[in-house]
Amino acid sequence: MTLTLVRHAEALVTMDDGAAEIADGALAFRGGVVVAVGTSAELSPLAAEADEVIDAAGCVVTPGLVNTHHHLYQTLTRALPGATDVSLFGWLKKLYPVWATYTPDDVFAATQLGLAELALSGCTLSSDHLYLFPNGVTLDDTIEAAAGIGLRFHATRGAMSVGESAGGLPPDSLVEDEAAILNDTIRVIDRFHDAGEGAMVRVGVAPCSPFSVSRGLMRDAALLARDKGVMLHTHLAEDAEDVAFSLERFGCRPGQYAEELGWTGPDVWHAHCVQLDPAEIDLFARTRTGVAHCPCSNCRLGSGIAPLRAMVDAGVPVGLGVDGSASNDAGHLLGEARQAMLLQRASLGGHAFAAREALRLATRGGAQVLGRPDLGSLEPGKRADFAVWDMAQIASTGAWDLVAALVLAPPPAVRDLFVEGRAVVRRGDLVRTPRCAVIGAAQRSLSRLMSLA
Ligand SMILES: [Zn+2]
Repeated sequence: MTLTLVRHAEALVTMDDGAAEIADGALAFRGGVVVAVGTSAELSPLAAEADEVIDAAGCVVTPGLVNTHHHLYQTLTRALPGATDVSLFGWLKKLYPVWATYTPDDVFAATQLGLAELALSGCTLSSDHLYLFPNGVTLDDTIEAAAGIGLRFHATRGAMSVGESAGGLPPDSLVEDEAAILNDTIRVIDRFHDAGEGAMVRVGVAPCSPFSVSRGLMRDAALLARDKGVMLHTHLAEDAEDVAFSLERFGCRPGQYAEELGWTGPDVWHAHCVQLDPAEIDLFARTRTGVAHCPCSNCRLGSGIAPLRAMVDAGVPVGLGVDGSASNDAGHLLGEARQAMLLQRASLGGHAFAAREALRLATRGGAQVLGRPDLGSLEPGKRADFAVWDMAQIASTGAWDLVAALVLAPPPAVRDLFVEGRAVVRRGDLVRTPRCAVIGAAQRSLSRLMSLA
């Protein structure tokens, strides 16, 4: 296996238990695994036997960022007229008819575009929540797109089963039969899920939300996931309307609903959780239930400020998510880290959330939420997933503390990105699928979707 040495990083951020940061840092990896981390001087003996030596002068090296919540198919419905200035339920009702016209090619093109955007902004592992399957769309379309870009991928088989006529939010044309949902979920787990260390693809079970599926499907999904040994994911307590729906329809708050149906535990992560109350935060901490915090989406839809400080202090595992590009409308995790930090400071004061703490959520925190102890830090034995950030740019120059500047200054460009020791971005460009091919496919799909709208 080839040995690669990265050296002379201005700072190498390990995200290990001691939060070590190494000046003039170096990292060596063999195949997909980190074999040594230290100063450039300490690792200099490896230079002679290395197959490649990468000079990271002027750069900061961090573990790859981890995205815990996305709907990649939405990347083709950014800034859609009529959905730009509304809250969650109104926003969904505007978008459902457009999403109903998607074909497998559109989902592939949107996923490829969203993952390219994530790769170029330092993300090495992304989850995805696909919950509508019109016109022959399958989860397979997204997994194929992820392989083409080269990112690690935690796909989740979402679902909607309660349409408008049954008191749900989505149109009846977009909901599926519950037996068919469970059968297809079993199919994609059996076909794609890799439980092993270093897995490039995992599959989770992910009914869309309490307001679009039945209690029965939530319960059966949890049973199925536990039987298969895969994780569970859904939206929970996103905004006040969401909580009101739970109280009216189920007679309880979202936390109780989740607990009763088996939706707590270290194998579960919920998106948003903006409206969790103190008892629900305690429930999540006791059960090690994870949260995907999506601050930009929460701001965009006016959902509120999540109790991030309280969740982290209580011991709730928290990662960051960009959420779908119809509600952000960007897919940049450093942007989310910055927004997470700023929102806590705006509501609680200037000392409420540190820049490094936000960076830790974006890396180690996300890896924990997605059940990946093999990722999230740069230490011998961990997978070689890392980003090389070019700090020699106008907007980063002038920073004294380059690590804090990753979050405090505008997000710098990613010069190089490696996943499992393989290059995904080099010199600021995609390695596997040309940028023009990604944009071309997306533009063809966008034209078709617009012509039908
Ligand atoms: Zn979402």
